[in-house]
Amino acid sequence: MSLAVPGYLHTITVPTPFPIGPVNVYLAEGDPLTLVDVGPRYEPARAALKRGLAAYGHQLAEVGRIVLTHAHADHSGLAAEVARLSGAEVLTHALNIPWLDGGSGARRLAFYADVLRWAGVPPQMLLRLSRMRRGMSRYEEPLTPDGTLSDGDVLRLGDEEWVVLHTPGHTGGLICLHQPRRRLLLSSDHLLRHVSSNPIVEPPPPGEKERPRRLVDYLAQLRRVAALDIALALPGHGPVINDVPGLVRERLAFHERRARQVMDALGDEELTVHRLVERLFPALDPVNYFLAASEVIGHLQWLEERGEVQSQQRLRVAYWRRRRE
Ligand SMILES: [Zn+2]
Repeated sequence: MSLAVPGYLHTITVPTPFPIGPVNVYLAEGDPLTLVDVGPRYEPARAALKRGLAAYGHQLAEVGRIVLTHAHADHSGLAAEVARLSGAEVLTHALNIPWLDGGSGARRLAFYADVLRWAGVPPQMLLRLSRMRRGMSRYEEPLTPDGTLSDGDVLRLGDEEWVVLHTPGHTGGLICLHQPRRRLLLSSDHLLRHVSSNPIVEPPPPGEKERPRRLVDYLAQLRRVAALDIALALPGHGPVINDVPGLVRERLAFHERRARQVMDALGDEELTVHRLVERLFPALDPVNYFLAASEVIGHLQWLEERGEVQSQQRLRVAYWRRRRE
């Protein structure tokens, strides 16, 4: 690793049962012993986390603090168990709490049923998607965090201060940690070397009505991070990133190309999200179908904001077309 990485900070790579592959957990030695993300509730992950801690002379029971970057099972599924075992304090962004505490299950299901109907998804696919969601919940255990982290908060890791960056996009509550003097970023799933971080469709935060525009948020946060003069980013999956501005440029170009593909797929027709997904990415399994639908919705919202497409709802289904002057 580069010289920019302090001696108190270690990467522990933990397997996951998900297509994304292993997840990077970060161990910060010092008081309190801190884990940034923990991995999924999955035996090989549990074993790898224990081994990773042991390699630096620690055990799970010593963990004093867990920082969760976002509420996806591959990052946070094991947090309840580690906290129970160690008494560690769990901190995350407030927007992650409704996803972690398990209390919003019914509201979430209602949201997805509604958004997928709006997307024109046929009933058989709805059924397969709800089965998939139930399968995923095996890899996480509900938990109520002890405290919240907001943009600009300062957190001590090792003997240094790290700044919390709230970077909504991949999820609404996603946070990165920034050490400005070292020009170092723990980028979680905001910035990954080999995969573009898909902004996932999510319900609006409690008390709000408007559906989030995650891709629009994400692109703004990408530009924000590119402007921070970061020498090295340590991501949630895969290898370190030593050219943050270059990678951000690549990602922005990718989304621009994808937006063009959505426009081409629309042609002069009026189509639902589902029909566009079928055209752009035929024959997907439910997990990838859901990710593809999230991606298409994100790009349509972005194109709508730019005045290039418009939608019309009939019987609660949205139909999209190019905007005519
Ligand atoms: Zn992830």
